[in-house]
Amino acid sequence: MEQNIEPVDFNEQFSFDDIDCPICGNRAITRFFFETAEEQIDCYSCGYTRKFYITNLDSKDDTNQEFEWTPAYSIEEKQGFGAYSVRMLHSDNIEVGSFATEQSEQFFIETVEQMKDQVAYAKYTKLVDGKIEEVILISTVE
Ligand SMILES: [Zn+2]
Repeated sequence: MEQNIEPVDFNEQFSFDDIDCPICGNRAITRFFFETAEEQIDCYSCGYTRKFYITNLDSKDDTNQEFEWTPAYSIEEKQGFGAYSVRMLHSDNIEVGSFATEQSEQFFIETVEQMKDQVAYAKYTKLVDGKIEEVILISTVE
């Protein structure tokens, strides 16, 4: 839909685990990517994200034993603008994602409205005064 909105993709390139979101305390997912040693936290309640990654993997030289490599890293942290869950009609998959900008919530509401004939379930959540507020846009029983 928009940048930073992506479905959870479970494959073999990373491991994942449940943690408590450091912002709202709800269940968040942490993923560790083996190849790049990148760690990412996504909360699908408040939309908080954190990325931890090593910035100097290129300078690592495994063939030179004398060379002492010190990893440098960077952390990108973003307070969320909320998160969404959608299930299309005749589908068992629930797509989840977080809102990238303040405008994403309105964009999501409008998109669901336009696609309401195909949507079985749609909701979004956001952090309001320290509590998660949940708005269910569509909830049908198939
Ligand atoms: Zn959260």
